[in-house]
Amino acid sequence: MGPIFSHSRISSFENCPKQFEFRYVQKIESESESVEAFVGKRVHEVLERLYEFAGRGQLPGVEKVVDRYHKLWEEAYDAQRVRIVREGATLGFYRSLGERCVRGYYLRHYPFDDGETLGLEKRVLFPLDDAGEYRMQGIIDRISRARDGAIEVHDYKTGARVPTQRALDEDRQLALYQIGLARELGLDRPFRLVWHYVAKDVTRISTRTPEALEALRRTTIARIDEIRSAAAYPPRKSALCGWCEYRAICPAFEAERPAGAVAGAAPRGSATAPVETAAILDTAETASIAMPEMPAVPAPPAAVVDADPTPAARPEPADGDQLRLL
Ligand code: SF4
Repeated sequence: MGPIFSHSRISSFENCPKQFEFRYVQKIESESESVEAFVGKRVHEVLERLYEFAGRGQLPGVEKVVDRYHKLWEEAYDAQRVRIVREGATLGFYRSLGERCVRGYYLRHYPFDDGETLGLEKRVLFPLDDAGEYRMQGIIDRISRARDGAIEVHDYKTGARVPTQRALDEDRQLALYQIGLARELGLDRPFRLVWHYVAKDVTRISTRTPEALEALRRTTIARIDEIRSAAAYPPRKSALCGWCEYRAICPAFEAERPAGAVAGAAPRGSATAPVETAAILDTAETASIAMPEMPAVPAPPAAVVDADPTPAARPEPADGDQLRLL
């Protein structure tokens, strides 16, 4: 049985076969991550915790949530690992950007009663075919049941680029998650796919017909066949190369390296594949992240903003307790 595929694995091949080879064939462990991916992870973590507490009836105030974001930042930040690519941008810029994402999301969605949260950072694993030859996996930021009964698949995006509605209506990632979830929850359930562009305070929603899902299933299988039969992995240079963790060993940039440096001489890591940051901040977004305008939304009542439960009433989520089941 072949490897399990994911949207990010397939996207890596589509964007640059050489990057796909480094990451998934040679399994070269990344020794750094872009600051955009780092910010995206912290925003995801704090929103996950926010919904954890909200689900227990312990909704923290906005300032506590922002404080938590900064604490997560300080705990995770490693100057040796996190790199800033964009010229002239500072670490403070990105830290503020994440804070604005968190604050804006909170103020927009307070008091978080638009549906019942069914899962947070939920891993889905499902076959695209009856024989199980084409297996897919993914991690869904949040799954909820809306008041009208529809199952909503939520995805947070921290990049500045907001795709058109048409592009999202043809987007692969969340529609694949719908295929996986429908196997668990029932094919006749209504679904909504919801993207939160938190840096821009924009929400986009899309739905899929059964015919569209079937077409997606077939085209995804065809793409997996293409990847499996690839005989070579040529580099494909683009604006995203600046954010590629393999640029230092990429043959497409050999001319830029000092004499004597050998492409492919970077240290090899373990056989463990790197974390698929596309689940957190997709690669295309990294080229367009920008300081957002603060959303013009009304603040919640001050009493609620400060109504953070006492530490005793706010138990921290246990490690490994992130994959809440439906
Ligand atoms: S640096 Fe560019 S061309 Fe080279 S592997 Fe990365 S994305 Fe591909």
